[in-house]
Amino acid sequence: MSGITVPQASPGAAYRALKPEIDAAVARALESGWYILGQEGRAFEAEFAAWLGAGTAVGCGNGTDAIALALRGLGIGPGSTVVTVSHTAVATVAAIESTGATPLLIDIEPHHYTMDPAELGSVLASPPPGLPPIRAVIPVHLYGQVADVEVIGSLCRRYGALLIEDCAQAHGAKRNNRMAGTFGDAATFSFYPTKNLGALGDGGAVVARDPELAGRIAALRQYGWTRHYISDVVGVNSRLDELQAAILRVKLTYLHAGNTRRREIARVYDGVLGSRAPLRRRGSEHVYHLYVVRVPERDAVQARLRERGIGTGIHYPVPVHLQPAYEGRIALGPSRCVETERAAASVMSLPLYPELTEAQVAQVCGALDW
Ligand SMILES: *Cc1c(COP(=O)(O)O)cnc(C)c1O
Repeated sequence: MSGITVPQASPGAAYRALKPEIDAAVARALESGWYILGQEGRAFEAEFAAWLGAGTAVGCGNGTDAIALALRGLGIGPGSTVVTVSHTAVATVAAIESTGATPLLIDIEPHHYTMDPAELGSVLASPPPGLPPIRAVIPVHLYGQVADVEVIGSLCRRYGALLIEDCAQAHGAKRNNRMAGTFGDAATFSFYPTKNLGALGDGGAVVARDPELAGRIAALRQYGWTRHYISDVVGVNSRLDELQAAILRVKLTYLHAGNTRRREIARVYDGVLGSRAPLRRRGSEHVYHLYVVRVPERDAVQARLRERGIGTGIHYPVPVHLQPAYEGRIALGPSRCVETERAAASVMSLPLYPELTEAQVAQVCGALDW
């Protein structure tokens, strides 16, 4: 018995809220007799690209594979450096290394937790010695907030680097009225169950600006097949299955309402927290994948919240460059990721998802007294 009455995330609540529609979609997919890359997947790809308003979507196995497929489709692998942040899901860096490319990790802006464009400018102007040329940049739109992607994009154009947006936490987020995922050469999404658009299993997608790139990625996700059983290039197996696609088609129709509800709850928390509330970037529409505060003596605060039935999370407790699998062998930018290390020591995520009840929101508000 955990005694937690307000978990930090609750994918089960999201299923229960839409159970009749999801069950019907699953039944339809099961009865169709076709389970991988069929009409549900094609329909979801078309609906997802239409929702984004740009590009061609290609479903795949998960958000990590989406990043790797985007890189491979763009010709990035051994002999290329890819710049991203250390304050992210380890998936971003794992995906870069899986292609054979070399990651270079830079710091975040401390108030928005996204890639510091000033440091990006400095590594593009004078790359750290000993690395292959920088060919791509992956900003992560973390916690539901778009990175300073216009400045990052103009730096990429100036230095001839490709721009891939990691949108795993930013389905529906906007910057100056433009959707996250429409700024780069490609954008990648995860449909892990807790994401703003979540499957009931694994799923992911790449959205490519260029339809030819989408075609290359569609081949890469299935053994490099461009024709049946003929591999013209070396590919992988990373497909979105029909059950998940059918579920995602239902959930996509509720994504906007879910993001609106997330923002409403965030405003309630903001009101209680005052100057301790997380900052929103001006001109941006945050979708609050996570509601992240900084707390002193985090262990004690988490324990007090737990006693009151409230679950919290830490995203992320250890920066990628300090994790055992990476420590001491990953190239860092000149700032040595100091703001990343500070953030990792004090961030805490409160419960935030559309299915929270008013009573649960009130329960959280009553406990924000560190
Ligand atoms: C979840 C996530 C991923 C990875 O997605 P999976 O579907 O779990 O592979 C990548 N990047 C970020 C920022 C994420 O939050």
